[in-house]
Amino acid sequence: MRSPIPDYLSDALGDVASDTSGAPAGYIPELATADPERLAAVFATVDGEVYGAGHLDVRFTIQSISKPFIYALALADRGFGAVLDKVGVEPSGEAFNEISLEGGSGRPLNPMINAGAITAHSLTGPEGLGPAERVERVISGLSAFAGRRLEADESVWASEMEHAHRNLAIGHMLRSHDILTEDPTTVVDGYTRQCSLLVSTRDLGVMAATLANGGVNPRSGERVVSAPVVRQVLSVMSTCGMYDAAGDWATQVGIPAKSGVAGGLIGALPGQIGIATFSPRLDPHGNSVRGVSLFERFSSDMGLHLMEVPPAARAVVRSNHVVGAGPDAVRVLQLQGGIRFAGAERVVREAVETVRAEARVAVDLTMVSSIDDVARRMLLEVARRLTLEGHRVYLVDPDSILPDPDPGDGVRVIVVGDLDETTSP
Ligand code: GLN
Repeated sequence: MRSPIPDYLSDALGDVASDTSGAPAGYIPELATADPERLAAVFATVDGEVYGAGHLDVRFTIQSISKPFIYALALADRGFGAVLDKVGVEPSGEAFNEISLEGGSGRPLNPMINAGAITAHSLTGPEGLGPAERVERVISGLSAFAGRRLEADESVWASEMEHAHRNLAIGHMLRSHDILTEDPTTVVDGYTRQCSLLVSTRDLGVMAATLANGGVNPRSGERVVSAPVVRQVLSVMSTCGMYDAAGDWATQVGIPAKSGVAGGLIGALPGQIGIATFSPRLDPHGNSVRGVSLFERFSSDMGLHLMEVPPAARAVVRSNHVVGAGPDAVRVLQLQGGIRFAGAERVVREAVETVRAEARVAVDLTMVSSIDDVARRMLLEVARRLTLEGHRVYLVDPDSILPDPDPGDGVRVIVVGDLDETTSP
């Protein structure tokens, strides 16, 4: 059988192809000459599967889509404190190239606008790095997200530098507030090289999937940044990634995203997929017109909006019944699926309300696919309290889905591989 997913993507591209509104970025002359008909879309799953349609291997410059990844590298290289001291996390509601800084401190409002991104660029790599080494750190970091070595488009870089008056003005303003501590021209030059790295829609899909996968590139298996860094980056993408269109995007699409003026657009849905599109004509916010339409369609067709309410956690308790009678009775709580706080609360309630005189209680995890840390601690606390009340508590956990099953206080739960081991008299 042929996968229906690439066919779906082709259909979606066909539906937006007739929209020729907007125009390629004009302020970077080299971008104005891009073929405006180019069109591509990619879904990259957290398992490393990549689906695509259209011109998915055509390369274009990454531009502002580099910003979330550079922010991630700065956080990883310098730590949260050092980065937050210099770049805020508040949406600006302004255009990406607005010449404005936070009153007083002079901090850029967030790392998705140019002022914040230029600052984040200066914070990559260890302190004291020279400009060339820093650019190398940026290239190798972005390459790790993509899973292949990226290269710059020298002509786009030169073309943008020739007209980088706004970014240079921002750089000088940052320098005057000591947010930048080196020559602003050198930093803007490095930032512009970062923006001129060539990527394909396929690359962007994998980069987005690396964020969706908590910082591990799902194709290469490399951990590029830590999970807390990814959480920070996705949060800022969701509030600031689409500049002065961030509110519309949050309500209509609801996927943390970032656009670039060459026409690329990425979205990362935690735990599910990275999405990338490419189409060079931009709307007045500097976001790809057909890219925005595609994301709106993907989000509504596939229920990808982050605020879509997931199925209720009550499905976690698959069954709750007693096997046997009298002194041999075993209360069996059979759980299933992924268990997080709300699911674990359901198990706690079930235990409080139904466990009575049964000498044995078995918590059957055979059909559980994941347990997060809070759920793990809650289940172990249930086991601890039931044990202290005099029950013999079994965890049926053939795949060791619950790590380190020690409830503390010297209490021991009995871990078995099969429910039969708990019910045999
Ligand atoms: N290099 C571009 C700039 O700094 C990136 C802007 C963008 O993609 N929105 O103006």
